[in-house]
Amino acid sequence: MARYSGADCRQCRREGMKLFLKGDRCYSDKCAMERRPYPPGMAGKKRPRDSEYRLQLREKQKAKRIYGVLEKQFRGYYELASRTSGITGENLLRLLESRLDNVVYRLGFAASRDEARQIVRHGHILVDGRRVDIPSFRVRPGQVVALAPKARDLTVVKAAIISSSKVEIPGWLEVDVEKLQGKVLSLPTREQIDAPVREQLIVELYSK
Ligand code: SF4
Repeated sequence: MARYSGADCRQCRREGMKLFLKGDRCYSDKCAMERRPYPPGMAGKKRPRDSEYRLQLREKQKAKRIYGVLEKQFRGYYELASRTSGITGENLLRLLESRLDNVVYRLGFAASRDEARQIVRHGHILVDGRRVDIPSFRVRPGQVVALAPKARDLTVVKAAIISSSKVEIPGWLEVDVEKLQGKVLSLPTREQIDAPVREQLIVELYSK
């Protein structure tokens, strides 16, 4: 009998692609997208044809799901991105990438953004030597993000570090595995953000 693999996997199935929300499981044959690559409740049915609006909406939902951000906060990021100089869609992704929970995940200190969020909330992360327990905290170039000494023995952290070889550290971050810390070298360029999101569609949706 198929095993229910949780709400995260339903989100991937809804979007029709792997969003890598569950750490190691995403790389295994237990991944629900490998076993049931159709939307929940649609076994044997075709996906509905996408209208322009539906495509835009799906793209926004996908970005929210990848970064674990709810509508109100996501809208806030969009508004900030549109007030910032440069390309709004790229600004939006840059803001999402520079969240502390995302950085902890990107550095390989957590197996998923969900797990990273928990680690941050529990006060296990230091930024420039100070404890920061706000997952949405925005990192800046030059800052050092480190695991607090007690966090180094956490099982989830050890497991994530062991399996972090599967995750490529993006070029805008530098990790020191010995010291269990990373440095923000710069904010990411669009090319350094591998999120499978067509950000222009999100901008079109919010611009209506
Ligand atoms: Fe679930 Fe991860 Fe597969 Fe998505 S990629 S369906 S979260 S196991």
